[in-house]
Amino acid sequence: MSLDRSTIWPYRDGERGPFYYSRDAHPTGVETERRLGELEGGHALLFASGAGATAALVFAFCEPGQTIAIAEGAYYGTTVTFGEFARWGLRYVEFDQTGPPPEGVDLVWLEAPSNPFLTMPDLEAAAAHPAGVVVDSTAATPVHLRPLEHGADFVLHSATKYLAGHDDVLLGAVVCKRTADAERLHEVRTRTGNVAAPDACYLLLRSLKTLEVRVRRQTDSAQELARRLSEHPSVQRVRYAGIGGLLSFDVADGDAARRVETSLHVIRNATSLGGVESNLEARSRWEPDRVPPGLLRLSVGLEPLEDLWADLDQALTQIEAK
Ligand code: PLP
Repeated sequence: MSLDRSTIWPYRDGERGPFYYSRDAHPTGVETERRLGELEGGHALLFASGAGATAALVFAFCEPGQTIAIAEGAYYGTTVTFGEFARWGLRYVEFDQTGPPPEGVDLVWLEAPSNPFLTMPDLEAAAAHPAGVVVDSTAATPVHLRPLEHGADFVLHSATKYLAGHDDVLLGAVVCKRTADAERLHEVRTRTGNVAAPDACYLLLRSLKTLEVRVRRQTDSAQELARRLSEHPSVQRVRYAGIGGLLSFDVADGDAARRVETSLHVIRNATSLGGVESNLEARSRWEPDRVPPGLLRLSVGLEPLEDLWADLDQALTQIEAK
């Protein structure tokens, strides 16, 4: 697929073709959406970022006065985005996604697995609820889970993470089960201009070719690191869903967490997740109200496992040396 940066395409015999103005659609975006739709088994639409995809979904399908039930422990930024809609009368409640969603809510928002608490949703219980179901499947990826096959109506991705996978693209996606929902979302996207640029789509399309091999390797490494961390004397608790490259673990307190963060040589002390290079950070810098000060989130990359373990082990030893 070649990259087409045009914003306009000429009419033919005075009639518009499939592409006429890139705020509506462009060839690189459509091809990338086709591929992602295939991977998830639905109709994919790309947005400027994961937060942009969240805002578009809420704007397209929620009404003033409605309530969203969101998984507690899900990405804190999603509730921050919901908060921007409070002035339009949208409310949200949090619930334990390992059980059924609360009655009377208008939309159910799950995360598979939740970031950074790593719980997995009960998809069957959510599908039995009369409200529409969104699964933020950023951390699971379609390599491990295809939520539309388990009763979800929408799959959401921060494509910035595993899908694009190299920490160089900001993108979001919503994959719809129903064509009519995809049409509605496309309309909202065109009207609000919350669009993905061709260059970003091109990088995503290229990255999707290696998604499976990247995620399988990241999963293998994460499984082994989770096991070794759980046996480490300086680690109090490990959270890992058993799939994917994301995990979190607790050290004693904020000081210990800072010591680990600043002692790493191979793993970067940076935010975000899903890239080919490993990242670790204390999440309390972003969400101190709900995350223990000693919680470290680790996104496992493609570096040799023993290099990652040696780096973690020496950084954890710095706590004991204190
Ligand atoms: N959903 C999850 C699970 C995330 O981790 C993030 C970002 O960290 C987002 C959504 C938001 O995505 P973006 O940063 O691409 O806007």
